[in-house]
Order: sequence, then structure tokens, then C-alpha cells
Amino acid sequence: MTNKYMYFIANWKMFGDLKTINSLDKVIKFSKSHKKNKFKLIYCPPNTLIRPISKRLGKTNIEVGAQNSHQNLDYGAFTGQVNSKMLKSVGAKYVILGHSENRMAGEDDNLINLKIKNSIKSGLKIIFCIGETLKQKRDKKTNQVLNSQLKKGLKSIIKINDIIIAYEPVWSIGTGLIPSSEELSKSIKFIKSKFGKKSPKVLYGGSVNSKNIDQLKIIPDIDGFLIGGASQNPKKFIDIIKKTIN
Ligand code: PEP
Repeated sequence: MTNKYMYFIANWKMFGDLKTINSLDKVIKFSKSHKKNKFKLIYCPPNTLIRPISKRLGKTNIEVGAQNSHQNLDYGAFTGQVNSKMLKSVGAKYVILGHSENRMAGEDDNLINLKIKNSIKSGLKIIFCIGETLKQKRDKKTNQVLNSQLKKGLKSIIKINDIIIAYEPVWSIGTGLIPSSEELSKSIKFIKSKFGKKSPKVLYGGSVNSKNIDQLKIIPDIDGFLIGGASQNPKKFIDIIKKTIN
């Protein structure tokens, strides 16, 4: 059991249609029946579902975010893209940036930094993902990578209050693998040490499920979880939350 205020962020990735939204009802019911001050739930569905989900959530204390945004602040000729202002206008309050699936698709630190700056300007809060690959971990470069991603990604950003950091080792996303308690404690501590007393919240993400949550929730300094696969199933998602807060 933890007495800390914990974040649970659902990253639905490219899954879900209008029918999927019905699955939120269980989570809304669960959230209403629990103390409001114990946790924050944020759903990051595909862009097509931001509006309908934020409508369904209505006046609950569950919030909605997007999974990426285009770096341009204004409208422009960018086929297939959506910027942070547009996301805000349909109900998003957060945006995930720097996710390894987008880094692997070519997003570099400078681009992520620009996206963060402009999304903050649009009034969104940022869920900023960082994490090392398996090779970097094997080469003992985890801290070096985290340091560099933090430095470059957050360059010239003063409003650190607008940022939540998600430590997501690339090798743990969708693989069923998680870091050892010792490794995870070290990385969370390392990330927080870069900010001193004003550290943003630092979450863990990567194959979180209702079986491994007991091991993860006891990591000192952890402020919550970014959950992919397991967040698409309301029962599994609720189980993770229950096991963390009870
Ligand atoms: C993610 O994609 O951010 C993630 C944590 O995925 P999963 O939980 O499925 O590993």
C-alpha cells in the first residue's frame, strides 16, 4: 500500500473505436467510488477518440491526453498531422511526447524539445518519455542516455511544473520484461537528482500488469505508471490501480 498520490496514465496506442469507449464506464464507476485525493487517471487514446472520451468522462476527475502532436503551433500544410492547439480544442489536457515508438520512427531530441515547448505554449501538460535501449543498458550507458535525453528534450524549458516524466526502458515496452527493483530505483533516483528539490513527477512505464505491480509500486520515489497494453482492458487497469493504492 502506498499513501502517495499516484498517476495512472493509459496509453491506448493505435487501438480503439467508438465502441471501445463503453469500457470506460467500469473505470469511471471505480474512480467515483474511491477517494479522490489518492490518484489521478489520465487516458491517452488515439486522436479520433479524444473528443468522445472527454465527453463520456464529463465531470469526473479523469482527464484526457493525446499521444503525440505536430511541432507547429499554427495550422499548416502538414498532411496527416495534428498540432497541440487542435488537440487542446477537442479536450486534451496532456500529450505524450518522446515515446520510444516515435523516437524509433525518427523523432530526435531537438524535435521532441520543440514539440514540448510548443505544446506547453498551447496549454497542454507534457508526459515526457525517456529510456534506454537494450544495447545501451548492456553497454552500461543508461544514466548517460537518460541524462542526454533530459538535457536535450527539456532545453530552455522553465515551466517544469508542466512536465511529468515517464521512464520507459525501450526493452521493457510490450515485452513482458521489467527492470529489477534495484535498477528501477536507481534510474528513478537518477532522474530526480537532475532536478533537485523541484523534481517533476517521475512515472515508470513498460509491461506494467496486475502481476508485477506489487514489485513496482514499492519502488521509492515512484509517482505512478504509464500503462500501454494492460490499460486497454478495464479490469486489468482497475486491478493495477487497486493493488497500488490498497
Ligand atoms: C507504452 O507504450 O508506453 C507502454 C508502457 O506499453 P506497455 O505497457 O504495453 O509495455
